Amino acid sequence: MNRVYNFSAGPSMLPESVLKRAADEMLNYQGSGQSVMEMSHRSKVYEKIIGECKALLREVMNIPDNYEVLLLHGGASTQFAMVPLNLAVKSGKGDYIVTGQFSKKAYQEGKKLIEAKEVLSSADQNFTCIPELDSSKFTKDADFLHICMNNTIYGSKYVELPETGDVPLVADVSSCILSEPIDVSKFGLLYAGVQKNMAPAGMAVAIVRKDLIGEPREGTPTMLTYKIHAENDSMYNTPPAYTIYMCKLVLEWLKNEVGGLEEIKKVNEYKAGLLYDFIDNSKLFSNPVVKKYRSIMNVPFVTGSDELDKKFVNEAEAAGLVNIKGHRSVGGMRASIYNAMPVAGVEALIKFMGEFEKQNA
Ligand SMILES: *Cc1c(COP(=O)(O)O)cnc(C)c1O
Repeated sequence: MNRVYNFSAGPSMLPESVLKRAADEMLNYQGSGQSVMEMSHRSKVYEKIIGECKALLREVMNIPDNYEVLLLHGGASTQFAMVPLNLAVKSGKGDYIVTGQFSKKAYQEGKKLIEAKEVLSSADQNFTCIPELDSSKFTKDADFLHICMNNTIYGSKYVELPETGDVPLVADVSSCILSEPIDVSKFGLLYAGVQKNMAPAGMAVAIVRKDLIGEPREGTPTMLTYKIHAENDSMYNTPPAYTIYMCKLVLEWLKNEVGGLEEIKKVNEYKAGLLYDFIDNSKLFSNPVVKKYRSIMNVPFVTGSDELDKKFVNEAEAAGLVNIKGHRSVGGMRASIYNAMPVAGVEALIKFMGEFEKQNA
């Protein structure tokens, strides 16, 4: 059977060599006589896996020593609650910049728990850009300012960071982590659901500056407390053991086969460049995002006709280009081209778009 090119926003493609390695090791992991799925998370052999996963993430992302790497259940959405519960402990205030659906969800969750404020938004530009980062709008004594670095649904991303002074900057990097180098020291906290660019679903990674890990707000559940997970090396309870193993394999691929984040950035910019160039020169397809803010991971596009969009999605699927339908809230199409999407997949999509345009324009 041929493998398809999967343009899903997540869960998404994994590198083929990673899947093959996991298959090879499925029944008997390195002579242990068992699958990683079956082994005790307290065993020596598993301790090595989780240790290597964290060490590799530190190495690949160049994470400074004063940051903790936490592997957590509950995906990115649970971080919408954990961030305010653990960080809003001085003034109890949190600022949010709303640039799409996930940052809005984060803000709405914050509102339930703390004194949360939406300080900037690009809603009135239909989320086609990042708003001007006017820091006079920010709350001086906020305990954090939250952004979503890459907007998975609208296909926009930050090209510069807001100036927050001493206020810790928190970023949801679910759909751009590991896609290019990032200066971790600019942030108080970074988090990501792993199912876009790191691993299969089932986990979030939080990279937290150590001085921000303290007693959480009163009443915070144990499992939502960063301090508990930090003190227990992400093993307070049974961790998402197999996802961590897969994450380790993806990080090994990134380090050894790709050559690290500088290299993957070149590939990602090349892939995105091919697709945006094609769309910008097309008479049928268009992308609404202000050029400066275009994502290199998620590329939404439309024909301008709902009927043609639907036809495109169906015919693309039949041609092995799957999950290209836009998010249910915005319609149209969206090609998510994360790290594991090969250049050949983007080329196949462009070829298909060209043929579709000829037949339907
Ligand atoms: C997918 C995504 C989420 C939600 O992730 P879950 O792991 O499903 O909770 C949050 N933020 C961003 C930016 C995403 O892309």
